[in-house]
Amino acid sequence: MSFSSDIKTELAAVTGSACCETAQAYGMAEYGRSFSASGVSLQTENKAVAQRYYDLLSSVCGVSPRMEEPAAGKTGLYTVSVDPSERERVLSHFGHGGREVALRLNRANLECEDCAAAFLRGVFLVCATVTNPQVDYHLEFNVPYLNLSRDLIALLGEQGLTAKTVRRKGNYIVYFKESEQIEDCLTGIGAMGASLELMNVKLVKSIRNNVNRAANCETANLDKTLAAALPQIEAVRRIEERLGFDALPEDLRELCRLRAENPEYSLRELGEALHPPLSRSGVNHRLQRILEIAEKLK
Ligand SMILES: [Zn+2]
Repeated sequence: MSFSSDIKTELAAVTGSACCETAQAYGMAEYGRSFSASGVSLQTENKAVAQRYYDLLSSVCGVSPRMEEPAAGKTGLYTVSVDPSERERVLSHFGHGGREVALRLNRANLECEDCAAAFLRGVFLVCATVTNPQVDYHLEFNVPYLNLSRDLIALLGEQGLTAKTVRRKGNYIVYFKESEQIEDCLTGIGAMGASLELMNVKLVKSIRNNVNRAANCETANLDKTLAAALPQIEAVRRIEERLGFDALPEDLRELCRLRAENPEYSLRELGEALHPPLSRSGVNHRLQRILEIAEKLK
């Protein structure tokens, strides 16, 4: 199941008071597949959404829609449609004539202060998708009519949500890209589980980023160590070729070998590896002597 599909199944189980049920039924009907005298219907892959549409139109408008399911054992679309003889009843219930040139949001269907959220929940169920937050932060409503997309943006705005819009394949896409807006939208319409999951994903991502930053920091330190070790290693090689380690004083011999074999060692690590161990400044002092000897061999 996709992230969207899980959210919709969660949301299809959310119910409200009578006015809010009406508001949600209106949202599902108006932003569904068709809402006019020539058709009142919904098509969806999600069985729970199809069932919710069916139940709401039945209980709120007193009609008996028809439900067509995909063939047994197959995935496909559920189609719920209201018979021509009952379309008028649904449309007029929500204050529409069914022959408007431009379909608009009829605010009379939003009564109490929670009705807008219930309406948006209905709209979300029939025309929205959310990308899995592991992949990207993206929530969009796919609306076929310009005016309905504008009314949706206005209503979202009243809920404190600033949506952007873009045209795609003749439809109007109303969308959010910021994770906070997506979280607020999901919480607002009652998808608590999905909102929490999104917060979790964000948390895990931010922890991972911090770990990466720390790792990058270590890499940077290692690079610095290697950069500092390079002239020392060159010096050691020159001494080995021209002079041989045996010609060196005993206290420098072991350090030369250690330096050549362990370019990634810091001064402190070199000191700890010596027999007997030596302080950082002691190692530094001996390395200076090695560099001076190599300098004379140029
Ligand atoms: Zn209400």
